[in-house]
Amino acid sequence: MLDRHNRKVNYLRLSVTDRCNFRCVYCMPPHGRAWLDHSEILSYEELLRLITVFNKEGITSVRLTGGEPLVRKGIGDFVAAITALGVIDDLSLTTNGSLLPPLARELKEAGLHRVNISLDTVNPASFARITTCGRLEDTLAGIDSALEAGLTPVKLNVVLTEALSEKDLVYFIELVYHQPIAVRFIEYMPIGGRCINGFDVATVQKLLSLAGREMLKPTVAVRGCGPARYYQFPKAKGTFGFITPISDHFCTACNRLRLTADGRLKPCLLSNKEIDIKTPLRSGASDSELAEIFHEAVQEKPEGHTLCRASGYPAFERSMFQIGG
Ligand code: SAM
Ligand code: SF4
Repeated sequence: MLDRHNRKVNYLRLSVTDRCNFRCVYCMPPHGRAWLDHSEILSYEELLRLITVFNKEGITSVRLTGGEPLVRKGIGDFVAAITALGVIDDLSLTTNGSLLPPLARELKEAGLHRVNISLDTVNPASFARITTCGRLEDTLAGIDSALEAGLTPVKLNVVLTEALSEKDLVYFIELVYHQPIAVRFIEYMPIGGRCINGFDVATVQKLLSLAGREMLKPTVAVRGCGPARYYQFPKAKGTFGFITPISDHFCTACNRLRLTADGRLKPCLLSNKEIDIKTPLRSGASDSELAEIFHEAVQEKPEGHTLCRASGYPAFERSMFQIGG
């Protein structure tokens, strides 16, 4: 379906939980967090109904996110149930990777197409500091398990923080030469957490070109429906991507809606506007009434956000772990 600015909305980012086994500093507030009660979170049955209704309105790509989607019990069966609907062309998941090794094969067999895995640094101490309680080896094992299970193309999400060093860039260069992985650098967004900024996008691009001893060349998008701009070294199997919501926003191509774990549709990540679909869903709304709410959310999509470092940031009511990124 088209929004008011003639953009086709076909992609749903669906948060299945706000809970997480990590506490990344840029994602969660420093003063702690209260998890949603289970009764507040949409059940898998409720989510399947919404996916079915939204698909009739044009949603064909679904990404499962969180919190950490793999902490929710029964996620493999949920993936299989989405697959069984037979209407979603692109089913993906964003994860911190740490719980993936025992689940990767099951998820692939259930019909999950591909995963994005968050990895901000390969320095064990920096990784522990940025995630507060994560272990680098678990996430690296998660990446291996995703490749082995064929959850491809595997994409890595690297938020630009002070944890990212030149040694990390050398590691990522080696990786893209030898593996068909897309390593994407993401600008920090000031939503709920805190971040000590490190390299900016231009510096990362320059350092990659210097250390890779070849020019990074623009290349076609890797399978997916996101906003990254991709580049490749001529002989590399993988690619680098840059996601720049702040310095060079991509709102003109925005194709997505978000559904929070507690049943709010978000027309734009960088706005506090939310539309409650859980209350109608739990009060007996018909499919056409739910479709109407979907339409309302699509029509509420703003032309673009106005965030920029110079003008400062508004206060966001939700942190990233409550939205799903
Ligand atoms: N737990 C999963 C993970 O970490 O991949 C999925 C949820 S997480 C909220 C989704 C994505 O948002 C991750 O790639 C994470 O790095 C990114 N993210 C979280 N907070 C962010 C922030 N303040 N700015 C930019 N990206 C952020
Ligand atoms: Fe958890 Fe992902 Fe947020 Fe890190 S970025 S705290 S792994 S939800």
